[in-house]
Amino acid sequence: MIGEAKEKDSFFLELPSKLFPEDFHMVKDHPLVDVHCHLTDPSYTNDIDHLMKQCELFGLKRVVTNGLCPTSNRGVLTLARKYPMIVPATGIYPLQGIHHHIPINHPLKPESFSVSEEIGWIEEQASQGVICAVGECGLDGYHFGDNYLTEQIEVFERLINIALTYDLPLIVHSRKCEKKVMTILAKHRVLKAIFHCYMGKTKLAIQGAEEYGWYFSMPAIAPKHSGFCRLMTSLPVDQILTETDSPYLPYQGGIRNDPRQVAYSVVTLAYLRGWSLAKTSEKIWQNYCRIIPDNS
Ligand SMILES: [Zn+2]
Repeated sequence: MIGEAKEKDSFFLELPSKLFPEDFHMVKDHPLVDVHCHLTDPSYTNDIDHLMKQCELFGLKRVVTNGLCPTSNRGVLTLARKYPMIVPATGIYPLQGIHHHIPINHPLKPESFSVSEEIGWIEEQASQGVICAVGECGLDGYHFGDNYLTEQIEVFERLINIALTYDLPLIVHSRKCEKKVMTILAKHRVLKAIFHCYMGKTKLAIQGAEEYGWYFSMPAIAPKHSGFCRLMTSLPVDQILTETDSPYLPYQGGIRNDPRQVAYSVVTLAYLRGWSLAKTSEKIWQNYCRIIPDNS
């Protein structure tokens, strides 16, 4: 069994060289969707216009930009007003929700704000039909283990209530808390959720996709990780989406990620399923329109 697992892993690691760069350039003829990124990051400030043009030329049709805190949430709305391709989601990143516990010099550099007031503001945007999803939100057990989880859950549940009230999807962070997040979503009977960069057990994901119709978005780094490749081969085809988490998680380390890199996820999915790139991108587009209805 161990031998078989090893063989599989090395197969997945070989994937990129088998697929790129030729396929990477072919994919741009088809509609591409990034359901999770952070284009309000300061690293985009100077060239966002240029980047948006490049994304358009590359075939990006929709880019769901997620807020994390008051500053980025407002930034998301500004970007969405300016660029038709950008779809706004506002939320509170799990660690921003407990910012008062995090030292000021911590690398996460949390913003200081009133969580309750921000939840009220997000609800206002939802009620006015300004946002298309609530996110990023969820739970994080990676940085502080079980510490402050009760507080994280409280914030998450308040955001879940907004999503349910206004019939919006949730874009969920679940790092090292996958099962807890699923239990909470199930408790609230949430049917519209996108798990971003899910790294939990494949079996749990399949169960969530089949029983609740939850979606799972595959990042650009997917071809390098057997876990994502397993998800891409075994999740119901209707529940798979693509994302980049830009500027984070670039396919190649050391560079700024951007939404064009969803091509890596699309090409890998096509390869693993034995589909054409046209069929794969069309499938992702249909899945996207089901969870975030596209009015344009
Ligand atoms: Zn993110």
